[in-house]
Amino acid sequence: TGEPTPEIVPSSLVDAPLKVPCRLLMGPGPGNAHPRVLAAQTLPLLGHMHPPFFAIMDEIQDGLRYLFQTASKHVLLISGTGHAGMEAAIANMLEPGETIVVGNNGIWGQRVCDLAARYGGNVVSLDKEAGGTLSLKEIQDSLDQHKPAILFLCQGESSTGAHQSLAGVADACDAQGTLLIVDTVCSLGAVPFYGDAWGVDCMYSGSQKVISAPPGAAPFMLSDLGLKKLLNRKTKVASYNFDLNLIGDYWGWFGKRSYHHTGMVSTWYGMREALALISAEGLPSLWERHRRLHLVLLKGLAALGLEPFVKSDSDRLVSVNTIKVPEGVDWAAVVKNAMDKYNVEIAGGLGPTAGRVWRVGLLGYNAKLENVELVITAFRDGLKQQNFLK
Ligand code: PMP
Repeated sequence: TGEPTPEIVPSSLVDAPLKVPCRLLMGPGPGNAHPRVLAAQTLPLLGHMHPPFFAIMDEIQDGLRYLFQTASKHVLLISGTGHAGMEAAIANMLEPGETIVVGNNGIWGQRVCDLAARYGGNVVSLDKEAGGTLSLKEIQDSLDQHKPAILFLCQGESSTGAHQSLAGVADACDAQGTLLIVDTVCSLGAVPFYGDAWGVDCMYSGSQKVISAPPGAAPFMLSDLGLKKLLNRKTKVASYNFDLNLIGDYWGWFGKRSYHHTGMVSTWYGMREALALISAEGLPSLWERHRRLHLVLLKGLAALGLEPFVKSDSDRLVSVNTIKVPEGVDWAAVVKNAMDKYNVEIAGGLGPTAGRVWRVGLLGYNAKLENVELVITAFRDGLKQQNFLK
């Protein structure tokens, strides 16, 4: 009699606190979160429909408008990582049968092609070699030819380290009635982004890069035109989880608040603090800090005989730096040595750059001179062990 004994018992959990090594994350993300952000996440939970929590959501929206440089009412956090922002953008802005031109110069363009096809889009991949960016002329020509409903561009291609310029793109889009979607997951906060002035209709980002919060919240915006597109869709948004009619209604876009999903209470406390830190530092200072340290990094690595992967200075992304692996050097051994000896993460390539580059992140809280110096020291040591340096 009595309750049966569970037959399945935990094999690895014991009654001891979780232990995690403390590492300096200088790869393409996540970077280390700011301590104030982490501290905020330990505060007591509120209900996701409690007025004090709505007040925090309002503050987050205020911080997002500053970070996006937009006066749009239609900003929020998508619950999920950068991919959730990407899927929300495609699911809501693209209708089945519509054409989308996708700037494709790395893994993110490839993924958007995949996603857009899943949502029934007619996908035109506008290809560029890894490390390159699209010229305004190439973009214009493609828009003229295909007259797409949507143009997708990735501002910071973290698989290649390329920085796509957005200047003039909105005018080219306007000429064809095309809406502009931009991925800023690894660029937002590190380089200028002017949501309104650049005519961006839909933008998504990620929490774990320059914003210096843990992964799990995707900053998101729609312009007035983007919202109009959403409200005038002929078809229902195919994803329930990412339907902005519903999520927007939770974030107060339509003058009330309705439950769609349980807001990520602790995660959003952290985002509130991360956005407060960005507002306190100011965007010009944040942009300049990243640019300056990017130059320090490249100079230090050049002194070791290493070269950037992206050929043109103006195409180089300052937040995720790609460095060519020299002939005969074992890139993975350098990565391993950096972790084992210096507790610092340097990453290898991804997608088209796998095995060809190292990637070094300068992400918000981690973008500090002492961290850049440690990365250079770790490279010097790793390259000596490979006999690339004496
Ligand atoms: N876009 C870009 C440019 C990225 O760098 C990343 C993450 N590396 C993503 C999208 C996807 O974000 P996540 O891994 O947070 O889903």
